[in-house]
Amino acid sequence: MQSAVLFSHIQLVTPLPDGPVLSLSNAFVAVADGQILYAGPFEDAARQQLTEAVGNHFDTYDGRRKILWPAMANAHGHIPMTLMRNQADDANLHAWLFDMIFPREKHLTPEHVKNGTLLGMAEMIRAGTGTAADMYYFSEAVVEAAVASGMRLNVCFDGKAEGPDGKTHVQPGEIERFIRMCRSVGAGRIEPALLVHSIYLYEPYLYQELAQVAVDQQCFVQVHIGETAREVSDCLATYGRRPAVQLSEFGFFQTPTVAAHCVHLDDQERSILSGANILVAHCPTSNLKLGSGIADVKALLAAGVKVSLGTDGAASNNNLNLYQEMKLASLLAKGSTGDASVLPADDLIRMATLTAQQGLGFARSGCIATGYQADLQILDADRPSLWPLGEPNAALVYSSEGSAVESLMVDGQWLMYKHDLQTLDEEKIKHDALRSAARLNRMT
Ligand SMILES: [Zn+2]
Repeated sequence: MQSAVLFSHIQLVTPLPDGPVLSLSNAFVAVADGQILYAGPFEDAARQQLTEAVGNHFDTYDGRRKILWPAMANAHGHIPMTLMRNQADDANLHAWLFDMIFPREKHLTPEHVKNGTLLGMAEMIRAGTGTAADMYYFSEAVVEAAVASGMRLNVCFDGKAEGPDGKTHVQPGEIERFIRMCRSVGAGRIEPALLVHSIYLYEPYLYQELAQVAVDQQCFVQVHIGETAREVSDCLATYGRRPAVQLSEFGFFQTPTVAAHCVHLDDQERSILSGANILVAHCPTSNLKLGSGIADVKALLAAGVKVSLGTDGAASNNNLNLYQEMKLASLLAKGSTGDASVLPADDLIRMATLTAQQGLGFARSGCIATGYQADLQILDADRPSLWPLGEPNAALVYSSEGSAVESLMVDGQWLMYKHDLQTLDEEKIKHDALRSAARLNRMT
């Protein structure tokens, strides 16, 4: 249900589409019918907009000692892998994936996937994330969980099966059916995408089929690119080209694409990824934990690449908390370049909100301004770790923690209100996820 709310006397922080990140104290924000009707310094203007829209039928949210800013978007992850949290640690990516993860995933069922997704969504909502990207299997179960949660989701569909020749082929009819299903159940909150795991998992003919079906269906593609040095050297050995170049050669990047990781790139690849419809998902925690390296975000931004943030899955992070990713991304960029002015707080705020939302297909989200969708979070600044608040933009990136989020709204609907989840039954979700995790992790 969409709420009508007047947020009063609140600290507003928001990126603007063509300008700086705005910080306005003692602001008023009016929300009704899923839209931001007003955001600015004048209470009368906010009240007038609300009265015209809904008469007197609106709530007031006292914003003193609170920060209102856009709900964040997690641009890369494998949400059901919450079931493998703290089960596959201290191994490099190749050993982690092939020896620890794939053996568990052989036993996955749609029920496991749904239980793990609901758990991940509860975790993300609690930490201020209203939109996520998901790359996994049993996508119908993931969509079902997303619809129940109210979150926005850019969701992959595998769309491959064994053909009469005994080889794996793309199934255009199945992909079309999935896209139609997402459009019909999603109420604008679900964006379908095609799963292209990486350059190292399929045979060449399959990449050509995948690129062709993405163009035919005009759908998003989600893909890992340049995650490890080994991926690059293997790709050079197999194809004589680096991953992004070879994917381009296969016909990718003609439709909107989410490129995860992008740790090991050269200038030619950065140039390819600077295309208007490409979003890079920087996943600093996962890249460090799997020993993969540090993405050169400064070089990506200098090349004109749109960079967002992702947690990756909880099997390699081990949480889904974008506050941690913002801080780590900024610190890594400063430490690795020796330049503390690189990736200032405003850049992280924009990456985690407006840039990510737009790149995931939600063009009217990620900004608190008239006409944008009401996707927002309220942070409680009345706690020792945020006291005295100082510069609010810096506080969000450098001293906030996910647990300080007290409310989250998506499309005008409360998903969490004053620390209570509104759409999900957290105790049941924890119980079901524990059961699924026990089964899955016992299998190995
Ligand atoms: Zn990933």
